[in-house]
Amino acid sequence: MTITAEPIKISDSEWEIMRVIWTKQETTAQEISEILGETMDWKPATIKTLLGRLVKKDAVYTKQAGKKYIYYPKISESKTVKSATENLFSHICAKQIGNTIAELVDEAELTEADVAKIMATLNKKETVAEVVCNCIPGQCECKHHSA
Ligand SMILES: [Zn+2]
Ligand SMILES: [Zn+2]
Repeated sequence: MTITAEPIKISDSEWEIMRVIWTKQETTAQEISEILGETMDWKPATIKTLLGRLVKKDAVYTKQAGKKYIYYPKISESKTVKSATENLFSHICAKQIGNTIAELVDEAELTEADVAKIMATLNKKETVAEVVCNCIPGQCECKHHSA
């Protein structure tokens, strides 16, 4: 089994399915149905559709075992989370990333251990004199563009 590093974009619903597959490492549509069916109000057909999309996106692979199909993750959870975060940051001005991270920290529920980890990361963070805006003129108001 190889875990691919390719950034794969998955929808919110597909993400719910992936979390079960990541947790179980191998699972069936039936098991996913038992875990998510009631809370998400999904019919077995919906789960099969979502699984089909994940297979097509190469996020999941499937093997037939007798009458059922077993599903396995093809992408790793940590890489998928990281690529989703990078994707979010690619939609904002580079100069706004510091602010956005500060807001995220402000709004998150964190333990003392979490805070200590963030502090340690900040303490060894190398800084730059200025962050360069990477936007197309007209996409941001940082005053570095002649509008
Ligand atoms: Zn910008
Ligand atoms: Zn700018």
